[in-house]
Amino acid sequence: MQQTTRRTFMMQVAVGGTALAAAAGAMAQAKVDEKDPQAAALGYAADTTKVDAKKFPKHTKDQKCENCQLYTGKAKEASGPCSLFAGKHVAAAGWCSAWVKKA
Ligand code: SF4
Repeated sequence: MQQTTRRTFMMQVAVGGTALAAAAGAMAQAKVDEKDPQAAALGYAADTTKVDAKKFPKHTKDQKCENCQLYTGKAKEASGPCSLFAGKHVAAAGWCSAWVKKA
């Protein structure tokens, strides 16, 4: 009886831990909205190919968040953290006017 109780408890811990990890993962995926005041002020676009060339004449389509110095996301992931937008992810294929070539 005692072993069954212990086994049940361990399974509940495992399930609970998985649920917490999933919840944390979902929270980490909150994306920066192009309409957020800070994002709009920086001209952030989730797709670098859609950046207004007249407004940002120095922008080139090979400039993306994924090759920006401020981007700390993992390679090949669709989004990741940027030090300018705490607590949210920017699109790997995105861009903003603060772009700096990754060293
Ligand atoms: S600072 Fe760099 S990583 Fe952050 S949104 Fe702008 S281009 Fe993307």
